[in-house]
Amino acid sequence: ALYERIDAVEDQVKAYVTLDKENALAQAAKVDAMIAAGEKIAPLAGIPGAIKDNICTKGLLTTCSSKMLANVVPIYDAHVIKKLRAEETIFLGKTNMDEFAMGSTTESSYFQATHNPWNLDRVPGGSSGGSAAAIAAGEAIWTLGSDTGGSIRQPASFNGCVGIKPTYGRVSRYGCVAFASSLDQIGPITRDVTDAATVLNTICGKDEHDSTSLPVEVPDFTKALRQDVKGLRIGLPKEYYGEGLDPKVHAELKKAIAQYEAMGAEIVEISLPHTEYAVITYYIIAPAEASANLARYDGVRYGFRAANATSAPEMTTLSRTEGFGAEVKRRIMLGTYVLSSGYYDAYYKKAMQVRTLIRRDFDSAFEKCDVILAPTSPVVAYPIDGKMDPLSIYMLDVYTIPVNMAGLPGISVPCGFADGMPVGMQLIGKPLDEETVLRAAYTFE
Ligand code: GLN
Repeated sequence: ALYERIDAVEDQVKAYVTLDKENALAQAAKVDAMIAAGEKIAPLAGIPGAIKDNICTKGLLTTCSSKMLANVVPIYDAHVIKKLRAEETIFLGKTNMDEFAMGSTTESSYFQATHNPWNLDRVPGGSSGGSAAAIAAGEAIWTLGSDTGGSIRQPASFNGCVGIKPTYGRVSRYGCVAFASSLDQIGPITRDVTDAATVLNTICGKDEHDSTSLPVEVPDFTKALRQDVKGLRIGLPKEYYGEGLDPKVHAELKKAIAQYEAMGAEIVEISLPHTEYAVITYYIIAPAEASANLARYDGVRYGFRAANATSAPEMTTLSRTEGFGAEVKRRIMLGTYVLSSGYYDAYYKKAMQVRTLIRRDFDSAFEKCDVILAPTSPVVAYPIDGKMDPLSIYMLDVYTIPVNMAGLPGISVPCGFADGMPVGMQLIGKPLDEETVLRAAYTFE
């Protein structure tokens, strides 16, 4: 049924870059046989999902929506994929994204721009725009995205979906093509909070291949889903409700806040004073890490290799010149600049210090509240017309980036509509407290 749906809408939505129909149908038949034989099956057995194309799937193209990796078929599975396979789930295919997860609109994909199913003339957000659009268009039951500065939560909000970025370290990054390693996290995009908790149950956990994955117990997240927020202290960061927030988005959030109050939550004002530095700090740290991570694409080991080079250095230069798109090059140039000799103290070191201040803001805020309620994005999905300049688009990540900087769990859930487009509300939790985040989201939903 999902492939029929994909056939019907994919021409317009363009959420997928690769479909894997034959294997998916074989897997469905396998699970059917298991059920017929009376075998006990796992929660995700036979439930079809799709994977952002920066997560390695053995034997299936993993392109990062880049010309650089357009022909790369991984020889191993990401940790999350291994875990999902162990549950006998079904992979429908790989979803479109901004090239190397750098972007907020999915327009920087080498292959195609994805369109927002709510209004095809608008962006689906990004960088996990394909994963969110696939859910909104009914082309998958669950999807995986990755979130370095908002790339799960922002497209979830633009498409009226649920998307959760877990605490840094909750989910192994092994097999997720690295963008900014100290910020990247994998997480689910789904239609509702129950589905998000179910997928999260499967993908979390310590992995010896990722030294930053945390050796902590993984709770059954579905047990956190309760209709009750009585006495829950919900913090509203005053810096998140000021200038720049579209009044129509704000109006929807106000309704949500009133609803929480009516359900017995206690609303408290908090302050995250270093918010205004988050985006500029991110655009030092993320490109610095990206420039190091992307140094491996040299035309030698794997991926795109330019033809007609007359020397090895020229081959590398040409491969990178032809293999990367404009946004990726911009980030590599920014990153190598801020890391270059003599500039380290002025930029990277300073940025790391500010990052600590941002994290401390959250530490103090969480002395006054249990969960933070904020907009996911200051605006709803905007038109696909290329009129926004890169800097304005960067600034729109102001509410999601601080959460990555501090390594916290954050979810986006639909909370209304503005200009006919979905509005997302973000709930941010203490480190490893996905349960409170999910509970607050579930109660509202
Ligand atoms: N929009 C942000 C960027 O362009 C975040 C991307 C992400 O989370 N992968 O870097």
